Amino acid sequence: MLPLQALQKYFGYSAFRHQQEAIIQHVLNKQDVMALMPTGGGKSLCYQLPAVLLNGLTIVISPLIALMKDQVDSLNVSGIPAAFLNSAQNPDEQRRLVEQLRNNQIKLLYLAPERLFGGDNKMITFLKTLPVVQIAIDEAHCISSWGHDFRPEYLMLAQLKNEFPNVPVIALTATADKLTQKDILEKLNLHKPAVFVSSFNRANITYRVIPKKNSFKQLIAFLNERPDESGIIYCLSRKSTEELAADLKDEGFAAEAYHAGLSNEVKVKNQEAFLRDDVKIIVATIAFGMGINKSNVRYVVHIDLPKNIEGYYQETGRAGRDGLPSEALLLYSPGDAGKLQHFARIEGNEAQSRIMLNKLNDMVKYCQLQACRRQYLMNYFDEAFPPNCGSCDFCLTEFKRFDGTLIAQKALSAVARLNERFGVNYVIDFLRGSKTEKIRDEHKVLKTYGIGVDISKTDWQRYIRELITMDYLHITDDGYPIVKLTHKSAAVLKGLQKVEFIESEVVEETHTHEQAPPHESELLSRLKSVRNDIARLENVPAYIIVSDATLLEMATFLPLSLDELRLISGFGDIKLARYGRELLQPVKDYCKEKGLQSKIAYKSPKRERKAKTQKAERTPKTRKANDTRTETFTMYRQGKGITEIAAARGLSPMTIEGHLSHFIESGEIDILEIVSQEKIPVIKDAVESYGREMLSPLKQILGDDYSYGEIKAVISWMNKNEII
Ligand code: ADP
Ligand code: ZN
Repeated sequence: MLPLQALQKYFGYSAFRHQQEAIIQHVLNKQDVMALMPTGGGKSLCYQLPAVLLNGLTIVISPLIALMKDQVDSLNVSGIPAAFLNSAQNPDEQRRLVEQLRNNQIKLLYLAPERLFGGDNKMITFLKTLPVVQIAIDEAHCISSWGHDFRPEYLMLAQLKNEFPNVPVIALTATADKLTQKDILEKLNLHKPAVFVSSFNRANITYRVIPKKNSFKQLIAFLNERPDESGIIYCLSRKSTEELAADLKDEGFAAEAYHAGLSNEVKVKNQEAFLRDDVKIIVATIAFGMGINKSNVRYVVHIDLPKNIEGYYQETGRAGRDGLPSEALLLYSPGDAGKLQHFARIEGNEAQSRIMLNKLNDMVKYCQLQACRRQYLMNYFDEAFPPNCGSCDFCLTEFKRFDGTLIAQKALSAVARLNERFGVNYVIDFLRGSKTEKIRDEHKVLKTYGIGVDISKTDWQRYIRELITMDYLHITDDGYPIVKLTHKSAAVLKGLQKVEFIESEVVEETHTHEQAPPHESELLSRLKSVRNDIARLENVPAYIIVSDATLLEMATFLPLSLDELRLISGFGDIKLARYGRELLQPVKDYCKEKGLQSKIAYKSPKRERKAKTQKAERTPKTRKANDTRTETFTMYRQGKGITEIAAARGLSPMTIEGHLSHFIESGEIDILEIVSQEKIPVIKDAVESYGREMLSPLKQILGDDYSYGEIKAVISWMNKNEII
């Protein structure tokens, strides 16, 4: 059987994602592989599919029982025989498993590393008597002491290659951090491994940061908009997780706390309840998450500032593994940053403290950013990314900008006149001509003293923050933070460089949060309830039966027969046979009640639902978004070019292009008005081969002759021509 056929038959998917196909091919060719893919990218399939195709046993090393159990349940539900060895199993159960293994009745065996090498290598000796055809090392970053989940037992895995020299080893991780990646390769002792690095961008997650004011109230407002969704709320301290969970319960939310200090029993109970959707919200410290495979986590909220970007990215990554639109919200207060600074200092370890403080500083910069957050995150992990992702709070907001060169010059010359030796507050007091005694007498006679009296203290703080973000000023990161000029400052002071500020921090968002695509929502909830019944009978979490994404497709395309259901992503042969009828019934009933027909003909077979396509379909909620687009459109119809409109409206050309895309999609602008005839098939071809989630790789492939605007326009035009 070909890999693609097996993909459909066993997993119910019609196309590979990322580099899955190449990775699988390498394993089938008996080569070692290291695969780096973001959470939710589809790593498991990279060894599960070869396991199905190869004639023999696949050993999977995994760090946590919860993880193994989830995977084994999920495989068994799809009709793939898998098992795990676990200390809780009694001798009888273990004997039965050994028997099954001897009879080649198991395709995948999950093990913790200590099981493999413990007890005089008895396990290894046993496994060597079996036809082992593949070894997968899941969460391979656990081998690195640089990473955040270092497990010393993983170090023993270096011996694997000696014990099974001819068996291909595939190591998988979602670690985006380069140092850890290098370390994994060094420590695992793989034989000429092929390394596959996918983009770490999580296109279906929207990133937002809001100033923390009354966090509980802000949180309630956020949760009230998502009453039926599952989410994780991260807090800094154990105590606050318990308090917050209690407060949320008082407000009627199904919430529980989770932290390392709770008894094992409570931890397991709360985690299970969350997996089974009995509890919708987990309020946790960062101890929670590793080993949570729950695919329908719709949001992750950080109510306190995370300590570094690595942790933040990993925690937010737990949202939206099923590929559906999800949210990451962070509540930022400068006070939190101060508190963490205090913790970051490790007595007697200057070097380590400095590293931690720098990482914290990068986190703070992210929160204060006046630019695309996704780009910042991607660049942090050394991945190039264009400056407008279209789905972070910055990109979703339209800012009015104004020429702030004079203001910038005042600030920079104040810093210069103070010999770059004072902190932000002093500089601001000096600019505002403060009469306090704090300002030294010799400074009060300088010409720049008081030149910024017309601007409020808060506004000055904001301008200086923006100047820092734009790299016209710099704050030292040693004990006492001082404002300094940068290599870019001189050009501003000499009037060679213009500086733009954002008009005010109160800005309008062009869109409210992501909406689900057009689907029958009543049917969706009926389907969820049928799925829950099945899950209860099978004694597994609901998402193991079929994912939310699968149900959403059903509620969109209304399959009315088993043949039609087969076209829904996620139904392999076994799932179809086991649960098809039962899940089809509510669709049939619903369509009969409402007089609806199947829409399966509109589903293009090759494509899964992607966050981006959904975005293109959604209708804007706010009138403001409509108004601003119409204004752009009117100017465009008056014959003005994109740059001209951008300048006149005080918006970026990217935003204007975004507006116009909307009209291409609605058919009001002909694609030929924007892109010339001969360019269209070339761009279309690139989009079809490389996907439409990210513009930058497309731009790289197409080269300088093709602009971002043209690529965007063709994508919109393609969206228009395809239903879903
Ligand atoms: P990871 O381990 O990388 O976090 P998973 O292996 O859990 O990700 O996969 C995430 C989800 O994507 C799962 O529900 C999985 O079934 C699904 N998936 C994997 N590969 C594909 C594919 N080619 N097409 C559609 N869905 C896929
Ligand atoms: Zn963005």
